[in-house]
Amino acid sequence: MDWFNGIIWHDGKFLGIEWNTWKVVGWAGNMIFLSRFYVQWYATEKKKQVVVPVAFWWLSLIGTLIMFAYATFYKRDSVLIFAYAFAWIPYSRNLVIHHRHQSALRSCPDCGAAAQPNANYCHQCGRALAETAAAKNPPS
Ligand SMILES: [Zn+2]
Repeated sequence: MDWFNGIIWHDGKFLGIEWNTWKVVGWAGNMIFLSRFYVQWYATEKKKQVVVPVAFWWLSLIGTLIMFAYATFYKRDSVLIFAYAFAWIPYSRNLVIHHRHQSALRSCPDCGAAAQPNANYCHQCGRALAETAAAKNPPS
């Protein structure tokens, strides 16, 4: 177990890292950002098809903002700052599109299943669905 202790406590420091508040922030951002891949992989394995769950975009956005703060205020490294400076744009846009899509979903009057905004029939019970304004004019 000495080898294990050597990894955990290296040179008298946890994981051999010189810890401070910004290191904790940076590692938290890094782990949040990394976790998105495992969340996406789990969702894909569960559905047996490639999917990108909304949690992926939230983890991407939160991880990016934390890493951007770490890069800007602690590391002051132009490469790191640039890497995270613009990534929030597609993450935020995907969250907005997801929110609009969720808001446009309709409920089947017979079985209550959520129907796509442009669906003509309920995928659950087959009932014909009336066309709504949201289906005629989908949000852009
Ligand atoms: Zn139905």
